[in-house]
Amino acid sequence: MKTKQNRVVGLLFLAVTMVMVLFNSCDKYETTYSVNNSKCALCLSCISVCGQHAISLESDGTTQYVKIDQDKCIGCGKCYNACSYKAISSN
Ligand code: SF4
Ligand code: SF4
Repeated sequence: MKTKQNRVVGLLFLAVTMVMVLFNSCDKYETTYSVNNSKCALCLSCISVCGQHAISLESDGTTQYVKIDQDKCIGCGKCYNACSYKAISSN
């Protein structure tokens, strides 16, 4: 009986923790970020660190470039920190 109660308490704790992590990870910061494509080396590091899938590799037919979707960006700054070429700046 005690084991079953412990399991229920454990599952509740896990559920509450997951909800808290989910809400915290979706917090939107005041700042969003943009790419200066003249500095961008297309290393794609920013794309791999963005948990919001806000950054994409685009093409205008002849040139590839990296774009940040301002509607998806929550301003966490991970892409800014990941860019070795200083091609990302805050808006
Ligand atoms: S990390 Fe910087 S250089 Fe690399 S693709 Fe992103 S913006 Fe371009
Ligand atoms: S600031 Fe965060 S959410 Fe916005 S594009 Fe960069 S990594 Fe993605």
